[in-house]
Amino acid sequence: MSNWYQLDSTEVLARLETNPDQGLSGEEARGRLARYGANALVEKPSKSRWLILWEQLTATLVVVLIVASAISAALGDYKNAIAILVIVIVNAFLGVREEYRAEQAMAALKRMAVPKVKVRRDSHLCEISSRDLVPGDIVLLEAGNLVPADGRLFESANLRIQEAALTGESEPVEKDAQLVYETSPALGDRLNMAYMGTTVTYGRALAVITATGMQTELGRIADLLQTVEPEPTPLQGRLDQLGRVLAVVALGIVTVIFLFGMLRGENIHLMFLTAVSLAVAAVPEGLPAVVTIVLALGAQRMLKRRALIRKLPAVETLGSVTVICSDKTGTLTQNRMTVTTLQTADGRTDLSPVRDASLERAEATAIARPTKALLLTAGALCNDAVLEMNDEPRNPYRAIGDPTEGALILAAAREGFVKTDLERIFPRVDEIPFDSERKRMTTVHRLPADWRLVPPGLAATFRDHRSMASATHLAVTKGAMDNLLQVSTHVWAGSHPVPMDEAWRQQILGGNDQLAREGLRVLGVAIRPLETFAGNHGEETLERHLIFVGLVGMIDPPRPEVKEAVATCRVAGLRALMITGDHPLTARHIARQLAMTTNGKLLTGQDLDKLSVEELEDVVESAAVYARVSPEHKLKIVEALQNRGHIVAMTGDGVNDAPALKKADIGVAMGITGTDVSKEASDMVLQDDNFATIVAAVEQGRIIFDNIRKFIKYLLSCNSGELWVMLLGPLMGMPLPLLPIQILWMNLVTDGLPALALGVEPAEKDIMQRGPHPPGEGIFGQHVARDIMWLGILMGLASLGVGYIYWQAGEATWQTMLFTTLTFSQMSLAMTIRSQRASLFSIGLLTNKALLAAVGLSTLLHLGVVYLPFMQAIFETATLSARDLSVTLALSTVVFWGYEAQKWFERERGHNGAVTPSRDPPAR
Ligand code: ADP
Ligand code: MG
Repeated sequence: MSNWYQLDSTEVLARLETNPDQGLSGEEARGRLARYGANALVEKPSKSRWLILWEQLTATLVVVLIVASAISAALGDYKNAIAILVIVIVNAFLGVREEYRAEQAMAALKRMAVPKVKVRRDSHLCEISSRDLVPGDIVLLEAGNLVPADGRLFESANLRIQEAALTGESEPVEKDAQLVYETSPALGDRLNMAYMGTTVTYGRALAVITATGMQTELGRIADLLQTVEPEPTPLQGRLDQLGRVLAVVALGIVTVIFLFGMLRGENIHLMFLTAVSLAVAAVPEGLPAVVTIVLALGAQRMLKRRALIRKLPAVETLGSVTVICSDKTGTLTQNRMTVTTLQTADGRTDLSPVRDASLERAEATAIARPTKALLLTAGALCNDAVLEMNDEPRNPYRAIGDPTEGALILAAAREGFVKTDLERIFPRVDEIPFDSERKRMTTVHRLPADWRLVPPGLAATFRDHRSMASATHLAVTKGAMDNLLQVSTHVWAGSHPVPMDEAWRQQILGGNDQLAREGLRVLGVAIRPLETFAGNHGEETLERHLIFVGLVGMIDPPRPEVKEAVATCRVAGLRALMITGDHPLTARHIARQLAMTTNGKLLTGQDLDKLSVEELEDVVESAAVYARVSPEHKLKIVEALQNRGHIVAMTGDGVNDAPALKKADIGVAMGITGTDVSKEASDMVLQDDNFATIVAAVEQGRIIFDNIRKFIKYLLSCNSGELWVMLLGPLMGMPLPLLPIQILWMNLVTDGLPALALGVEPAEKDIMQRGPHPPGEGIFGQHVARDIMWLGILMGLASLGVGYIYWQAGEATWQTMLFTTLTFSQMSLAMTIRSQRASLFSIGLLTNKALLAAVGLSTLLHLGVVYLPFMQAIFETATLSARDLSVTLALSTVVFWGYEAQKWFERERGHNGAVTPSRDPPAR
């Protein structure tokens, strides 16, 4: 059955055995889920261990090694052949283990990103994971939702859906639940259906799910969608590039060494193996994979701090963020709105924020102030939040939906105006939804024929009034006062409307500013009686000639942890900007409370309209608060900041925020209040909507950036050490300093473990006390290349030196001395490279246990190679005396002291790359 669009909606509901008011029962839904399966497109299964192993074994250099091993075997050199194979296999297993962990971490992140859906089940509206949706479910679709499965609409209000994912048409289509088709229109023309993968851009609707998962229209073409390969992260891109450069360099060096060997009459087979091993040593082939692992594990750690990474490169970029632009409501504040103040022509009433709803008393106060009753009623009618009964007697109501609207219906309910009752008396017949551009919304209600139904407090307000007597409908508009005033022509003064004059205007704006100055979020409410109503009016006809009723002020306290997070930003050289749709005075009040601004400088949306992006660039450096902005302004702010070289994290929750989220370097969506559309456009989702979480994620990003830099520096220094030895040894007249098998062993086993452990190095103490990495610096900034060179030379000379002396003295252990000194040098380098500034002694030896274990294990393995007789046979090593072993140990610390000295000098000079934290310039 797929032509649901040809059936009347009641017929559809009947056939799917569901009820629009109650929805499915939980039990029924479970049964159907078992029958139809999860509502998800069948995904390419994540890589199996075998596939990962196969990829590891078919990497170019590994193949080269395998070929080398085969050639050795063919020449009868079984010892080397087998040893090479064993090393290759050990290395592959290490790689598989790590990569598998990374794959698992990524798969877990992906599962977390499944959107939630509002469905009616067991007569309740609840949120479930879209995976659990079944045919017959009644779902609520709202602006910003991704349509979670295919469904037949049975109620719609101004619903517009963008179906580009399915039809390629990017212009949203206006939908209509009432239509029934007799023919079979094309997919894009079935206006009574909503399809999985499309997005609701406007309006609201109820739909009954007709198909889920692979049965959906999207499911049918899903195979086509799955072939997209994940893009490499910028860092991986750079590393690939580096790999290519190093391959060329290595080829050059290897050729030189090879020719040298030939000239000196070395065995061709040995020289061939040496060349191959050196190529392996020089090219950091494993690096991109290790980087992915570290990024994936980092993303996993960020999730523990409630930041869900949607795109892996974000982990890398987060560390470089210089500006965080944040919404106010819900991110800086708690989004626990409570109405505290009502203001009408009768004057101002402050409600005590929390109180038990003893309804009799409440009703009495409302009757005493009739205009307040009208204000609360209107606020509850023009409202999409849902009122639910609680079992708690002291606190009988609970609101579901937008917190601003929830606060309104709770305040009304406490005063005896229960939204569910009101809606029965004044049924809604039309609406113009809220959007952050207009900053208001309107609903139209049918007035009752029988006024006896109306609560007495309310009836007294306007039943007898002339303008109401002839009206059949009532339009209610609520929204930001500055805009609302422009379309209001009257004021409800006590019991009747009076024309709006300049004095009223001043009084209302004055009241508005006063409330905003107190840090309250203010909404204005207005009504308009309609003599006739034909349905389907636009904003142009409905939102004019309004009668202004009053102001509602609500508190939304700042989140307690945000103040500290803002302070952290300040010392970390990050700027925190507030970008809000709210009133400037409200915004400034909260910004002051959170110490986000020292100069109080504030720009409004109107100011932004007047500035070009270039002009904005000059202001954007000093202004920290932006009020009454609409989503398009966010884009402008991001652009201005980026033109100034900033790396910008920008939050957003609405449908219209998607462009700004995409444009920002890190688009941050809200996990709780954010729309699906904004989440789709984001790089990171805050599971707790909390500003402090962004700061924590930046901190994690910096740690990861540091650690990646550390292990790259470590691995490449080790490689450069090996190259120096191999290059300089023959120049000093020595025989081949290291055997191929020894080079491979160091490269693929002993330095790999410490490198991975460096990837989980804990934060350096000053991680949030220094400035961000200069944008564009990249992982190779801060003299990484120079360090790789000189640390390599240091290790190379120490090892070669001792090898040379022993060789000159005719000791048989010369090569083992050299090999051991080099391996131990790498271990001691791993210890000191843990911090880029601080001495190992100040960070403490025990703070990275993984590294200690890795170094310990690598050392043990090496001792095994030197002392176990069968290993000696393979690696051609000789037993070292205790004295010789001490010599290697002592010499291996040369590189350690060298790097510690460099760090000491840099600390002394205060030149450690830290940028002075930025501050707002003082007030002018
Ligand atoms: P922010 O989330 O940045 O605080 P919003 O865009 O949500 O700002 O709101 C901006 C303004 O729009 C608010 O100050 C308020 O006046 C108005 N507003 C917000 N929510 C609603 C709503 N549900 N209905 C009508 N007006 C609203
Ligand atoms: Mg908002």
